[in-house]
This record gives sequence, C-alpha cells and structure tokens, in this order.
Amino acid sequence: MKLGIVGLPNVGKSTLFNSLTKAGAESANYPFCTIDPNVGIVAVPDERLKLLGDMYHSKKVTPAVIEFVDIAGLVKGASKGEGLGNQFLSNIREVDAIVHVVRCFEDPNVIHVDGSIDPLRDIETINLELIFSDIEILERRIAKTGKQARMDKSLAKEAALLEALKAHLEEGKLARSYETEDEDELALLASYNLLTYKPVIFAANVSEEDLANDGADNKGVAQVREFAKETGSEVFVICAQIEEEISELDDDEKAMFLEDLGLKESGLEKLIKASYHLLGLHSFLTAGEDETRAWTIKVGTKAPQAAGKIHSDFERGFIKAEVVNYKDLLEMGSLAAAREKGLVGMEGKDYVVKDGDVILFRFNV
Ligand code: GDP
Repeated sequence: MKLGIVGLPNVGKSTLFNSLTKAGAESANYPFCTIDPNVGIVAVPDERLKLLGDMYHSKKVTPAVIEFVDIAGLVKGASKGEGLGNQFLSNIREVDAIVHVVRCFEDPNVIHVDGSIDPLRDIETINLELIFSDIEILERRIAKTGKQARMDKSLAKEAALLEALKAHLEEGKLARSYETEDEDELALLASYNLLTYKPVIFAANVSEEDLANDGADNKGVAQVREFAKETGSEVFVICAQIEEEISELDDDEKAMFLEDLGLKESGLEKLIKASYHLLGLHSFLTAGEDETRAWTIKVGTKAPQAAGKIHSDFERGFIKAEVVNYKDLLEMGSLAAAREKGLVGMEGKDYVVKDGDVILFRFNV
C-alpha cells in the first residue's frame, strides 16, 4: 500500500513523515529503507506476528509494509507551475490514498502561509490544486479520445463521460463525488488515476493539549470531521511534534509516554487503522520456521486470490487452505495440536479469508 502525504507548507507534513518512518522502522525492527528522501517504507505494527514468530522460532518475521511519499511543495498555484509545479503532482498519481495534513494547532512561531489557522480554507486550497491538475489530465484525454471517437463509435461513451467529469470538476467538485452506477463508467473513472478520485485520510495536526481528548475542544478539528463525513473520508487526530518525540523511544518507553499523555495508541497506529478501514483492507498471516509474515488483502478476498498475494503459482495451483485463527493457534501451541482439537478448517476456493487467519496453502505446482 502506498500513501501520499499532502498539505500546505508549514502544517507539519515533514514532521509527521519523519516520525512515521522512524517509528515504523523501529517498532518492528524493519530495515528502514529510504528509496529517496521523500519515500519511506513503514512496517505495520502487528502484535500477532511477534507472538507467532516466537512460537515457531521463525528465522524471519516479515511485517506488512506501507510506503509513504512526502509530497512537498503543494502550494497555491502548484498546478499552474508555482512552487515545485506540476512535476510533484505526478508523484501522487500512483498512491492508493492521500493523507491530507491539516493544521489545527496555533503557534505564533510557525508561520501560516495564509496568515491564520483555518482548516477548511486550507483543505479547499489543496483540493483546488488537485482539481486543476485533474482537469488538465482530462483535457488531454478529451483531445485524444475526441479524435479517436470520430473513427471509433464505441468511444462515444467515454468521450461523453470525460466531458461530464470535466464539467463536474469545474464546479469545484471532487472526481470522487461524481455519481454514476454504470459499470463501464466506474471502470473508466478508476483507470484515470485522478487525484481527486483517491480516498482521503485527514490528519488533523493539533497541539499537545488537544491531543489527549482527541481534539474534542478544537473547533478546527470539528470542522475537518464534518467535512470528512460529507466527503466519505477518514480523520485521525495527531500532534506531529509529539509523534516525533515518540518515534525516538523504544517500545517500553513508548507505552509509558503514551499512558502519561492519556493515549491508547500512537499516530502511526491511528493512521494505519484509518487507512486499512478506508481502503477496506485487513491481513492474514503465514507462519513457520523459515518465516512468519503478514499479508494485506482487501476484505472479501477469497482463499485462492489471497494465495496469489504470496505467489501467482499458489493461486493457479490452489487446492485448499488450512485455516486457523491466530489466537487458537497460539493457545494450542502448534498446528498439530490445533488440528487435534478440530480448530483447523480445510477450506476450498470459495472461502473468504478473515482478519487474523493463519493459513497454510495446499497447491499443485
Ligand atoms: P511542512 O512544511 O508541512 O512539512 O511542515 P514541517 O513539518 O516542516 O513543520 C513546520 C513547522 O511546524 C516546524 O517548525 C515544526 O516543528 C512545526 N510543527 C509541526 N507539527 C507541529 C505541531 O504539532 N505543533 C507545533 N506547535 N508545531 C509543529
């Protein structure tokens, strides 16, 4: 999964990005790799993995990972070439979802580019840039499809959709809110990689004081929540500065620090939950002496397709899946013991994989 972090300058993007990549690297001991300074791979913290890995004395424990891209340079006029211009917008095209950082904290020492704290105005500013950029993409498509449609009548439907979408965006609306139930149109919509078609998670960046009660006293947070509700997005409340401090701590210190602050989980954990929820994802596990590993799949994925995540041969040659819930497995201490107790299911190709399933796939090569 790949998430792009956007937001106006000085809202705390880099602070958040740094803390996330650092925390993710340390919490699961994942070799933190920097592909380039703006891309970080973060391990998804998963208690279950460690427990299973210990039980099997696994040589390797491999968490699911999330790739973060810090998309700096999004300023008013970016789509028209201001700031870093349009080049960075291409970085966002490839992400599965956008994390939109919104400044809800006051701090006279940190200048706001527009002079005051106003989350809704900021969201609007960023959204407009994304909309402009999408319109440009559509215009290019319209020119191309228009020409082709004259020779190939089957393209008339797409040409009409492109025009309708463009008109929709020109009203300042997001591609995501374009309403259609037509299967062809939905497939086309998904294929354009439009920025405003991507799911959004708002990160409301608050002060330390506002963090403890999840931003309940912060007017800006309430506005962001309302906006997110209207647009089908997720929200999570963080204090990027505190996150940065947390990312410096080891696991025990971290737990104490969070408790002192009255928090149950770190910003990274909140963000991961929000993104899994928004994208309809969960994970299954494979466990053994060689490797114990978490795999991220869409909710509703059936056993053969889940197997295909591991290797395409597993999907092609799928015979059945031996499935046990990780809790049962841990409680029994071994797969054999779990089998004896009848806790291991033999599942076929229609089995819908559940979160926390530990699976052993049987397949033909
Ligand atoms: P970016 O331009 O969006 O990447 O913003 P930065 O992460 O560089 O942050 C801009 C400034 O705001 C830095 O001086 C940060 O230390 C500060 N900052 C970031 N998050 C917070 C926060 O939660 N509270 C306060 N008071 N300052 C913050």
